[in-house]
Amino acid sequence: MICAFCENKENDERVVVENKLAKAFPTTQPIVPGHILILPKRCVSKFEDLTIGERNAVFELMDKVKKALRKSFDCKGFNHAWNENLIAGQTVPHFHLHIIPRKKGDKGIYEYEPRKFIYRLGSRENSSQEELLEIASIIKDNL
Ligand SMILES: [Zn+2]
Repeated sequence: MICAFCENKENDERVVVENKLAKAFPTTQPIVPGHILILPKRCVSKFEDLTIGERNAVFELMDKVKKALRKSFDCKGFNHAWNENLIAGQTVPHFHLHIIPRKKGDKGIYEYEPRKFIYRLGSRENSSQEELLEIASIIKDNL
């Protein structure tokens, strides 16, 4: 499968920080200015595919990038996210962690609340304890 991150060498021109196993660069379709992707240099699609060393390398860069984003954009918070598989919105099959700096007055997305668009549209009600216990039971049976 063609990987847009490995194919597009312009991404490497935008690298802001890297270490031996991972690198970080601004995404081509930022949600807000400063939206950064952090990814392993090795092309693998899922977090579970990363070695412990690669996981540490990604999180080491996350700390550095967030410090820089606070200084650069005066952001007060972050969204951290990765999508896994196409059904969850992963369009590039190379694991990448989104770091999205957030501050008051952001245009576009003002919050991140998957429940508003995936499950029980518009509802902020708590699920019943009975429903949650059933879900917990199913998961525990499969650990
Ligand atoms: Zn790749």
